[in-house]
Amino acid sequence: LYVDHPLGEAQSVPVSRDHANYLFNVMRLGVGAKVALFNGTDGEWRAEVAAKGKRGGVLLCTGQSAPQRMPPDLWLLFAPIKKARTDFIVEKAAELGAARILPVRTDYTNSDRIRQDKLQAHAMEAAEQCGGTYVPPVSEIRSLAEVLDGWDESRVLVFADETTAADAATSADAASDEPATSAPLSRAPAPAAILIGPEGGFSEAERARLRALPFVHVISLGPRILRADTAAVAALTLWQEHQGD
Ligand code: SAM
Repeated sequence: LYVDHPLGEAQSVPVSRDHANYLFNVMRLGVGAKVALFNGTDGEWRAEVAAKGKRGGVLLCTGQSAPQRMPPDLWLLFAPIKKARTDFIVEKAAELGAARILPVRTDYTNSDRIRQDKLQAHAMEAAEQCGGTYVPPVSEIRSLAEVLDGWDESRVLVFADETTAADAATSADAASDEPATSAPLSRAPAPAAILIGPEGGFSEAERARLRALPFVHVISLGPRILRADTAAVAALTLWQEHQGD
């Protein structure tokens, strides 16, 4: 259970109204019942129900069951798409160990009316569901241009570009207007951030700017054009396979 409260030896943790309903009505836990708690910074703790009521209660930490684990330093930047698919991207990014999730507004972004608080709740539920102790922060949406202007160049920006050939051999045989080739994702060093575009992809102007930046590493996810949510899951998985822990 995720709680927004410090955890430690013999620490009492107040139970929120929502959690009281879930723990005492839905799960039917009584005084003395055991729960596992995490808050994103103090690891996972065993706790017992010390007091319960209709609108709240108290949990008492009895011992740490797992130390805090921080994910590898990988961010996901993505252009929001339809609500259900945006929710899916955030949920899967949290499950796949993204350290930060940054929605970005691009030239062809379909929908930039995202609810940051709702997306943050999805990330929290995903972390809870997969037994993680870390909840990636989800930022408010910002324009891609603004994000690039303030970029710390020590972080590689892994630009997933479907117009890129997967390897040099493919493009060598092809016509002269063949798109640029990409380096394999496995060669993108950490810290890194993966950038996935919206349903309409990136505009020519965005693509040209991204390709000219020294910290950008262009990758292909294969010859098929993937939906943005599939591309996000595929890129995160590939990066974790090569660089993650
Ligand atoms: N521009 C395309 C179009 O409208 O036909 C489609 C964009 S695709 C649905 C959404 C995003 O997923 C792209 O901007 C890119 O970041 C990523 N993507 C999809 N397939 C990819 C591939 N094969 N290689 C690299 N990135 C890919």
